[in-house]
Amino acid sequence: MPSPHPWSLTISEAHHLLANKQLSAVELVESVLQRIKQTDSKLNSFISVTEEYALQSAAKADSMISNSKQTMLTGIPFQAKDNICTNSIATTCASKMLENFIPNYDATAITKLKSTGAVLLGKGNLDEFAMGSSTENSVFFPTKNPHDLSAVPGGSSGGPAASVSAEQCLFAIGSDTGGSVRQPASFCGVVGLKPTYGRVSRYGLVAFASSLDQIGPLTKNVQDSAFVLEAISGKDPKDSTSNPEVVPSYYKYLDGDVKDLKVGVPKEYFVDGMDADVASTVRSAIKTMEDMGAEISEVSLPHTSHALAVYYIIAPAEASSNLSRYDGVKFGYSDANSTDVWDALEKTRQHGFGPEVKRRILLGTYALSSGYYDAYYLKAQQVRSLIRQDFVNAFAKVDILIAPSTPTVAFPLGDKLSDPVQMYLNDIFTIPANIAGIPAISIPAGLIKNMPIGIQIMGPHHSEKTVLKAAHAYEQATNHGFLKPSIQE
Ligand code: GLN
Repeated sequence: MPSPHPWSLTISEAHHLLANKQLSAVELVESVLQRIKQTDSKLNSFISVTEEYALQSAAKADSMISNSKQTMLTGIPFQAKDNICTNSIATTCASKMLENFIPNYDATAITKLKSTGAVLLGKGNLDEFAMGSSTENSVFFPTKNPHDLSAVPGGSSGGPAASVSAEQCLFAIGSDTGGSVRQPASFCGVVGLKPTYGRVSRYGLVAFASSLDQIGPLTKNVQDSAFVLEAISGKDPKDSTSNPEVVPSYYKYLDGDVKDLKVGVPKEYFVDGMDADVASTVRSAIKTMEDMGAEISEVSLPHTSHALAVYYIIAPAEASSNLSRYDGVKFGYSDANSTDVWDALEKTRQHGFGPEVKRRILLGTYALSSGYYDAYYLKAQQVRSLIRQDFVNAFAKVDILIAPSTPTVAFPLGDKLSDPVQMYLNDIFTIPANIAGIPAISIPAGLIKNMPIGIQIMGPHHSEKTVLKAAHAYEQATNHGFLKPSIQE
């Protein structure tokens, strides 16, 4: 059998070839760089490719391997979403506001990946400031879905999901505030994990909604997700909301066994009018888990129907505050044609932000303004507590929950651009996990009319071991592993 292209390897396959000196990190990186050149003019998943830097990092990884300092990720090439700060490499948030912003520090997740010897290839496209569900809100260009170039890859981590799907990198890291890792993972046929809030440091992740934001891995399979999660997790003195919980070797718990695991099926996730193919995909996943010996029962999360409304108060409110720093003075874009400081501030924000970001700032400012605060923001915080409590009650009875990741498969480019509410409805199944701060993973569950679809597994705070174990068992028991797209060289 001819040996596979290095770009087509999983992390563990590449790791073993590197360890046995059958492949060097430089060869691996050259192979993925070639793959990027051959495919990215069609996909547009990268905002920037740091070729020279990647080759230098690969050479360093090779010397780590020669000096017996190899870790799981040494020499493994990855893409980082372009809202994760990278020292000396532009971090644009796909916004005109930060088009020329070059951070002088790395996000903690990047520092940790670099210390393992992982190789940064470049920065991935996203909806501006991670606001969106299709990657069409990028100021640069939309990213395409590798399974159908006329469809969206999902968002906001559309670049990371498309690049893993098209095998332009062995893994990527994205951010998930309301589903932005899991929804594009579902649309592109890859594995996307949102860890427990605080599991991964947010230091250096450009803030969107700080009480919801979390960095997570996008990978070809569940085992790779476990490797990346272990590498990026842990307490960070630079993020006071990061959690001191010990970081286990998650992959050691992937034993394929779900016997006696209590799996809850939240009835509110199977609503009238839901896509019949999506519902039957999830039902057959539940059957698979049952056949493997899991105990299935129906549970109720009664406040689920309020989750979207709560999110679209809290996230814009936090965004309006976080984005107030872009004033044309401190950093980023500054409008040069102004008469005085107020005019400069107004013009900078008028021209620096795109329409969706402005919509969120307006929504958030309104919800926080005097006279409306109690009716909107305070009420949303109260309902947030009820949604969290729903999950606490459910997890008193079951170990994990299984649900759809997305209401449909990927939709055509342009389809929902003129109707923001239709776009927001895409996040209906992913948002509750962010509101409650719990871990949730989307894993491929097959194809609907030739397009990938994911199912979602959620667990209590810091139950990543169980969530990954159940996801891995499902992946092993089915043939729905990584779905190679049709995109050719
Ligand atoms: N699509 C959601 C939004 O636009 C979620 C975004 C995210 O998770 N970053 O807010």
